Amino acid sequence: MNLFEAVKDAVPTIAAAEHYGIEVKRNGMACCPFHDDRTPSMKVDKRFHCFGCQEDGDVIDFVGKLFGLSPKRAAEKLAEDFGVRYEGLQAWQPQRRPSVISKLAAAQEYRKKEEWCYRVLCGYLHLLRDWKEQYAPQPEDEDWHKGFYFTIKRMPGAVWERPVGRLWHP
Ligand SMILES: [Zn+2]
Repeated sequence: MNLFEAVKDAVPTIAAAEHYGIEVKRNGMACCPFHDDRTPSMKVDKRFHCFGCQEDGDVIDFVGKLFGLSPKRAAEKLAEDFGVRYEGLQAWQPQRRPSVISKLAAAQEYRKKEEWCYRVLCGYLHLLRDWKEQYAPQPEDEDWHKGFYFTIKRMPGAVWERPVGRLWHP
């Protein structure tokens, strides 16, 4: 198969869209990158079609339009990014530096992970604050609830020492 056939055969538009950072919903709908689209109005599967601006085509048209490339360059980019083999592909190709797009995608991925960690840690801190109140020892308590030890040991900035004269119940 030649370059164009091999790429179209191997890479559905939905895979390319996701690979280049476009969020595709479960039903195959995505926000169209070719017009100002607030609600997903582009259907992507093997090909793509936008019900908003009527853009339509195959995976090579999609990537060409997305990156402003000629059809040949778009197909070459897809072949390279997805490891598609085709007739006339040279056995040896120099290593290319990661594209700006893939660097942007990596940065975006990192930010997502960072936000996720932040949310988890904030949730944990709220939980610890709740527990600290819930298990706070009362003056009449003989022994402190172990939940309180557990909590204060884990509060941020806590310098924790076992209170003298109290029994530790693991
Ligand atoms: Zn559109």
